[in-house]
Amino acid sequence: MTLHSLENCGVCTACDLSRTRQTVVISRGDPAASLMLIGEAPGAKEDESGRPFVGRSGQLLDQLLREVGLDPDRDLYICNAVKCRPPGNRRPKKGELLSCRPWLDLQIELVNPEVIVLVGSTAVEAILGIKGGMTQLRGQWQHWQERSVLPIFHPSYLLRNPSKAEGAPTDLTRQDLDAVRRRLCER
Ligand code: SF4
Repeated sequence: MTLHSLENCGVCTACDLSRTRQTVVISRGDPAASLMLIGEAPGAKEDESGRPFVGRSGQLLDQLLREVGLDPDRDLYICNAVKCRPPGNRRPKKGELLSCRPWLDLQIELVNPEVIVLVGSTAVEAILGIKGGMTQLRGQWQHWQERSVLPIFHPSYLLRNPSKAEGAPTDLTRQDLDAVRRRLCER
């Protein structure tokens, strides 16, 4: 398999999301990075631009990454569990997650990251098969396919809970991303 194989993802019609999308949103960042972030699905801005996490949520995520010393362009590869925008930004259906899973598996195989950050509950469910409970799960290291995996809150949740206070979701997410940076430094 090569990155070239992933180009076929751009013309995928394996689920009904292909009928309403503008573009297939595959990834941004460095495919050679040791860190991979996996989110849920593209939103409107991502569907327009073809790049994941470029709307308000993505800007907040990039800001938090930079605050802990991680460069979103060079230190990580970022993608979503589902590559096409669900209409109205609804949560992807189980069948859509299953249809798109081969693309996600290919990305994981190609990037071969040592550390994976699962951004939000849909990514946690897709990879670890654990439903809900993000308050308990975030910041708790897991092991999956011999990789270190860390669930964090989705930045859209942080935008809905914008407190900057110590112990608030944004502060906890910054702490989680700092733990990721430290884990990468330990290698
Ligand atoms: S969401 Fe995934 S499986 Fe569905 S059409 Fe897009 S790329 Fe293909």
